[in-house]
Amino acid sequence: MKQEIQITDDKYLFEILNKSEFEREDVVYLLKLTNEKHISELFKKADLIRKEFCGDEVHLRGIIEFSNFCEQDCVYCGLRKSNNLLERYRMSVDEIIETAKKIYSAGIKTVVLQSGEDSHYTKEDITHIIKSIKEFCDVAITLSLGERSFDEYDEWKSAGADRYLLKHETANEKIYSALHSKQELEERLIHLKYLKSIGFQAGSGNIIGLPGQTIEDIADDILLCKELDCDMCSFSPFIPSPETPLKNISPADLKLTLNTMAVGRIVLKNVHIPSTTALSTLTPEGRKLGLTVGANVIMPNFTPDKYKDKYRIYANKKTYDPIKFVEEIKQMIHSMGRKVSEDKGHSLKQN
Ligand code: SAM
Repeated sequence: MKQEIQITDDKYLFEILNKSEFEREDVVYLLKLTNEKHISELFKKADLIRKEFCGDEVHLRGIIEFSNFCEQDCVYCGLRKSNNLLERYRMSVDEIIETAKKIYSAGIKTVVLQSGEDSHYTKEDITHIIKSIKEFCDVAITLSLGERSFDEYDEWKSAGADRYLLKHETANEKIYSALHSKQELEERLIHLKYLKSIGFQAGSGNIIGLPGQTIEDIADDILLCKELDCDMCSFSPFIPSPETPLKNISPADLKLTLNTMAVGRIVLKNVHIPSTTALSTLTPEGRKLGLTVGANVIMPNFTPDKYKDKYRIYANKKTYDPIKFVEEIKQMIHSMGRKVSEDKGHSLKQN
C-alpha cells in the first residue's frame, strides 16, 4: 500500500515537472516538496532546463556598490535611512569610473552600478558615468539605483545603459506595505513595466523568508516575474541585519531558497538567475549549490576595500579580494564542467 502511494506521488511529480505552462497550484506543489528523492528530481529538472535555455556558460557581472546612502526605509535593509549605526559613504564619479575599468580589465563584460536610493547623484552624474564607462570599456551596464523618475530612465537608456535591476521584493501587497513605509508595490511594478517598455533588460525578484510570507506568496513572486516578462530574476534569502527592526527574525531556510531557485528556473526558463552573495552568506557552499539548481550568473563584488564593509545590507556579508575571487570562481565553474562566458550575457529573450 505504502509503495503504491509512493508510485502515485512520483507519477504526479513527473507530470508536473514535464508541463510547459504552470498553474499557481503546480508552483505551490513544487515549492512544498520535502521528500529528498523528489527534491533531487526537482533540481535535476531545473539543471536540465538551465542547460537547454542558457547552455553551460556562467556569466560574471562585476558589481560596484557606490553609495550606501538611502532615502528609503525598507524595514529589512541595513541601508535604511533610519539606521543611525551605519557610517555612510559615497564614491566620487571618477572613483566609480576607475572601478568599472578594473572590472573590464579583469575580463568581465558587465558592470552593475548599485546604490541605495540616493538622489545626491543627479541624472547628469549617472549619464556621465554611463557614457564614460562605455567610452573606455566594452561592457554592458546594469543600473540598480532604486526608483527614479521616468525622465531619468529615458536619459540613462539613451546614454547606453542596458539593464535595470529593481526587485519587487514580495508580490504580497500587505507584506510589501508593512515593510516599506513610503513605497507601494503597485508603484514599483509601474516602474518595472516602464523600464521594460523603453527597452531596458529588466530584472526583478524576491526576498525569501520575510516575516508573514507563505509558500503561496513565493509562488506568486515567481509568477509575477513571468507576467512582467523579466529578463533577470533574483530569488535570494533574507538574512537579518542587527541594525534593523527585523534583527531577531531567522534567516531564510536554505532548502526553501534552493527550491525557489529551481522552481523559478523551471517556470521561467529563458531568464538569467544569479547565485547570490546572500545565498553564500547563508551557507559557505551557497554559490556552487545555486549553480546546480538553475542559476547561471555570479556577481563578483568590486566595491573598493575602504567602502565594502559599509554596504551592510545584512549581517556577515562576505568580503574578498575581487581578483582572487574571480580566479577561484572560474576554477569552481570549470570543475563543475561549466564555462565562463566571454560575452556580455544579454537577455536570453532578445528577438
Ligand atoms: N536601492 C536599490 C533598490 O531598491 O533596488 C538597490 C539597493 S538594495 C540594498 C538591493 C537589494 O538588497 C534589494 O533589492 C533587496 O532585495 C536586498 N536586501 C536588502 N536587505 C536584505 C536582507 N536583509 N536580506 C536579503 N536581501 C536584502
